[in-house]
Amino acid sequence: MSDLAQLYQSVILDHNRNPRNFRSLDEADGQADGYNPFCGDKITVWVKLDGDQVADVCFKGEGCALSKASASLMTTAIKGKSRAEVEQLNSLFHQLVMGELDPEASREALGKLKVFSGVAEFPSRVKCASMAWHALQSAIKASDKQPDPQP
Ligand code: ZN
Repeated sequence: MSDLAQLYQSVILDHNRNPRNFRSLDEADGQADGYNPFCGDKITVWVKLDGDQVADVCFKGEGCALSKASASLMTTAIKGKSRAEVEQLNSLFHQLVMGELDPEASREALGKLKVFSGVAEFPSRVKCASMAWHALQSAIKASDKQPDPQP
C-alpha cells in the first residue's frame, strides 16, 4: 500500500463518497466559509446552537477527498457537544494533524477522527483536513453576533 493509499483509509473514502450532514441549514445561528487555495477546497459550514450545545451542524462544498471527509467526520463528532467540548476536540484535532499528538493516548477523545493521524506526514495536506474546523470556529463565532430573536 502506498503512503497516499494509507492516508485515504476506508473511513475517509467512505465519508468522501457518502458525506454525512451534507446539506445547508436555513435556520442556522451561524455560518462560515472555508477556502483552501492550495488545493481548491471550498466549503460552507452551518451551525445551530441550543444554548451551549451544538443542536445541528452541516456543510456543503467541493474539494478533495480529505477535505470532504474531514468536514463530514467533524459534523458527526461535534453534534450534541457543548462549546467547550467542541473547542477541546478542535484543539486535539489540530495537534493530531500537526503530528503533535499521540493518537493512541487520545484514542477515546478522538474517536473516528483518529484516521486523520496520517495527515501529519503530508504537511501540504494539513490545510485540507483542518479547513472545516476553522470554518466551524468562525461559524460558532458568527452565531454570537446574531440578534436575539426574543423581543
Ligand atoms: Zn484538499
